[in-house]
Amino acid sequence: MCSSCKQGISRTQMKRTLALLPFDGIFLAHEGDSREDSLYRTLVSNPLGIRWACDACLEAGNALIGRPRKQRYTFNPMDVNAPYLAYTDRHLPCDRCGEKFVFRKEEQRYWYEELNFVVMSYPKQCAPCRRTLREGRSLNTELSQLLADGEPQSVSDLRRVIEIYTLMEKPERVAYYTSRLPRN
Ligand SMILES: [Zn+2]
Ligand SMILES: [Zn+2]
Repeated sequence: MCSSCKQGISRTQMKRTLALLPFDGIFLAHEGDSREDSLYRTLVSNPLGIRWACDACLEAGNALIGRPRKQRYTFNPMDVNAPYLAYTDRHLPCDRCGEKFVFRKEEQRYWYEELNFVVMSYPKQCAPCRRTLREGRSLNTELSQLLADGEPQSVSDLRRVIEIYTLMEKPERVAYYTSRLPRN
């Protein structure tokens, strides 16, 4: 469904997002299908939880078009880390002050397409808390302690390193340390 107005899937209302899907490997292609048929079929069955918005919401400015080619995603059928075809405001809890904050669609596009964070990541704190945490000189000190032996010494240290690099907006470091987390 459209992540803004929650309307069900409608082919005539998906021209803009259908045109964005850049891949060939993922579609549930049937013989005789056009490319658009295959894309549509894939979204209808929606096995990957692809986030899209209808043309009406995009035109009204309630959703912002995504640029999958600029995003960092994986496309494994067992996985839900599909690219964003459209962004809509999300309401998230801040784990520092407890307040809900809006992760605005414009911020999301910046986060995933300019900072290049992987698509399943999102900020854990509201903007003022992030600013406060970043400005604290203690972050750098803590990081150098956690990495004093070259590598974090436990999974909880590793998680903390990832949190700190997320706050510092260092997606390359986040991706590197995230890849070292044990899989479960
Ligand atoms: Zn809509
Ligand atoms: Zn907060």
